[in-house]
Amino acid sequence: MKQRRIIVWFRNDLRLQDNETLSKAIQMGEEVVPVYCFDPRHFEKTELGFPKTGNFRGKFLLESVQDLRNNLQNLGGDLVILRGKPEEELVTFAERIQAGAIYFSQEVTAEECYVDKSLEKNAWAKGIATESFWQTTLYHIDDLPFPINQTPEVFTQFRKSVEKLSSIRETYPQPEKISFPEKEIIPQAGVMPDLQTYGLEEPESEPRAVMVFEGGERAGLRQIHSYIWEKDLLKTYKETRNGLIGEDYSSKFSAWLALGCISPRTIYEEVKRYERERKKNQSTYWLVFELIWRDYFRFITKKHGNKVFHIGGIKNLKDSWRRDNAVFQRWCEGQTGVPFVDANMLELKNSGFMSNRGRQNVASFLVNDLGIDWTWGASYFESVLIDYDVCSNWGNWMYVGGVGNDPRENRYFNILRQGKNYDRNGDYVRLWIPELAALKGFDIHQPWDLSTIELQKAGIRIEGTYPQPLVDLQSAY
Ligand SMILES: Cc1cc2nc3c(=O)[nH]c(=O)nc-3n(C[C@H](O)[C@H](O)[C@H](O)COP(=O)(O)OP(=O)(O)OC[C@H]3O[C@@H](n4cnc5c(N)ncnc54)[C@H](O)[C@@H]3O)c2cc1C
Repeated sequence: MKQRRIIVWFRNDLRLQDNETLSKAIQMGEEVVPVYCFDPRHFEKTELGFPKTGNFRGKFLLESVQDLRNNLQNLGGDLVILRGKPEEELVTFAERIQAGAIYFSQEVTAEECYVDKSLEKNAWAKGIATESFWQTTLYHIDDLPFPINQTPEVFTQFRKSVEKLSSIRETYPQPEKISFPEKEIIPQAGVMPDLQTYGLEEPESEPRAVMVFEGGERAGLRQIHSYIWEKDLLKTYKETRNGLIGEDYSSKFSAWLALGCISPRTIYEEVKRYERERKKNQSTYWLVFELIWRDYFRFITKKHGNKVFHIGGIKNLKDSWRRDNAVFQRWCEGQTGVPFVDANMLELKNSGFMSNRGRQNVASFLVNDLGIDWTWGASYFESVLIDYDVCSNWGNWMYVGGVGNDPRENRYFNILRQGKNYDRNGDYVRLWIPELAALKGFDIHQPWDLSTIELQKAGIRIEGTYPQPLVDLQSAY
């Protein structure tokens, strides 16, 4: 039986296209009321004192919510903006407008699940139904060829299993029409907050950033179109994906995926269409392969719950980490004295983004070379990354920290060798550490090996212009 009025609570699914929650509400409700609730807990400080949402992601989030609002307005409706705890605000609002049900997307981590449970409890106490839907992943949870508590621990087993025994559902089309309530029911749809509301500053524009990330579904769909079709980059993805500089070496879909401005199934369908219409090769497969990594971390988090945040990780390993705040701060600030690490950390700090190659290296350096608590690194990334995704971030950090499911024992990255392989001429380091720019070729990766005269010629004074390295690194060979 149809409900008279259904609230759609948008969370990390800020889109109209391929949105099951919205599509089901349109199907089941005579009227649909889209709502976004800004939860102040998302803007609190972490235990280490970082804002949970830093200014890059804060800006991207506001743009994404605004874009959703514009898209709903174009369909003749609006997005209601609430502020406060969703488990309370949504129920009060539902009572006020006499909505019979609240629909929303499921999340997998503790804080979000607590909100879901509380919302359900509060809503049911007032006679308001709730229904939640699985979104976010390429493979639907109900289509997995194993129960979630038997998700294979090793990625390759997971991937082979889903590829062989499961299939990817079709996307939901973008709704052409939504029946919104009359204006009298919701005379004021609420005002959008701004960055200042949450004590965040407008990020400064950074010409060296890989690209300008603009939040929202329309910008996300434009990025898919640009990367796959206009620039025709998909066919070389596998060869370029380990790059460090510029917009084109990888897809840059992650920020839009993290807030659900685009869905992985939409990307998948575009990849399949590209394979039919232009080219099918290892690169076209590899983008899907990476999206399966993303799925894997989400399902592993669903399986293991809070363990992914624990110091011992999934493996329950003993805590033998170092907690030296001064050293950790030097890592955060890009002042370790190891140019390849510092360049990446400066990119992150100044632009909110870092390549996958960079993330692997700086994470390995923090945990393996400096021995610092891996959860500190994950917590800093959570604050600063524009594309922060709770499962991908903590899952990858667990891997690097050696407390995840990686069957390979040693996840040590030899920073100098990595620099040699991925930044042989030092262009990336030169871009982010101009103090070292006069050093030629690979010399820029190991200034400590140069004589005082050579350094002087390049205008560099160790401990003056650039710090002494925090550790002696293994040689590049
Ligand atoms: C320590 C560490 C922390 C990370 N934190 C995050 C995070 O918070 N959010 C996030 O989206 N990714 C995270 N990643 C994964 C990866 O670095 C980014 O997804 C990628 O760099 C984003 O750029 P892209 O969209 O151009 O990626 P592409 O290379 O174009 O890949 C396409 C998509 O595949 C997915 N993907 C690719 N690699 C991975 C991976 N290793 N794990 C999970 N998904 C992947 C992403 O959704 C990505 O957008 C982290 C990796 C490491 C090593």
